[in-house]
Amino acid sequence: MKMTKYRIATIPGDGIGPEVMASAVSVLSALAEKMDGLSFEFTEIRAGDGLKAETGVAMRPETVDKVRESDATLFAAVGETAKEVILPLRQKLELYANLRPTKAYPNVPALKEDVDIVIVRENTEGLYKMVGDRGDGWGVNLRIITKGASERIARYAFELAKKDGRNKVTAVHKNNVLDKTCGVFLDACREVAKSYPDIEYEEMIVDACAMKLILAPEQFDVLVTTNMFGDILSDEAAGLVGGLGLAPSANIGDENAIFEPVHGTAPDIAGKGIANPIATILSASMMLDWLGERDGAEAIEKAVMTILKEGKTLTPDLGGSATTVEVTEAVLKQL
Ligand code: ATP
Repeated sequence: MKMTKYRIATIPGDGIGPEVMASAVSVLSALAEKMDGLSFEFTEIRAGDGLKAETGVAMRPETVDKVRESDATLFAAVGETAKEVILPLRQKLELYANLRPTKAYPNVPALKEDVDIVIVRENTEGLYKMVGDRGDGWGVNLRIITKGASERIARYAFELAKKDGRNKVTAVHKNNVLDKTCGVFLDACREVAKSYPDIEYEEMIVDACAMKLILAPEQFDVLVTTNMFGDILSDEAAGLVGGLGLAPSANIGDENAIFEPVHGTAPDIAGKGIANPIATILSASMMLDWLGERDGAEAIEKAVMTILKEGKTLTPDLGGSATTVEVTEAVLKQL
């Protein structure tokens, strides 16, 4: 029998972060007990506002190496210091693909029922390269787009479509105005698309895409886009299917990957024990998929689906009155 022990770094962070992380870790541990040959060794790393208040730094220098050396990392949420934690981690580890699956789940109010989209966002350049300047009454942020990064993200999107049996990739751009940068991005997408004749390729201007996401999201399958457009569209898409409590995400590079719920630290409900842990649990499921543990990933997703379908054990954000611990226990029972 194959024995695989994965070294997982966990970064619980601030606010509801530690509450939802505890839930995901117990789900993974329970899965390991159920599945022969699968085990996890968790290493908890402190980072975020709490650490900064105590020590003056939001992330210790050795954290990057710890994350690099782990097989995968699960991240919950950090507050004000996100710029000092998750952004440098994404950049230093070259986590170039940000994935945001967007699905309409049973029993969760969604604007449209028939949504199953993956947004693939370029994660390393564009307007978030943070190159710019500010003077008296003016400011500049440079939008940097390269052929290399564009080809890499386009290829990732097509490979993902192929792996998951998805039929269409839509490249989202603003080439009618930002022709210099979006031109480079689209040229790369067109070139990559030629290697995937079985997958339909289309292009759409970002504002049209934003509207169609609301009016006819069922027409989309995989969206691939540059950093800031991806940032905005993926939050729009999360809203489309019932909000932040359910939305998982992944930051993926060639060697490393960090999985995290889309939501932040939710200070308004932190410490109350009512945070919805499902976004983090589904992030853990994405992590297993990336590690090649397809069966484990599916088992978790199926358990979550059952709980949503039953609709009996839901946290207040989904209209229920269950606590974080009660939802976690319901997932454990399904497993
Ligand atoms: P941050 O500054 O860390 O981004 P925020 O409050 O601005 O925090 P989120 O943490 O994403 O942003 O929260 C936005 C809203 O969604 C809040 O009202 C919060 O309570 C709610 N929310 C976010 N995540 C969850 C969750 N897991 N369960 C329940 N409610 C959530």
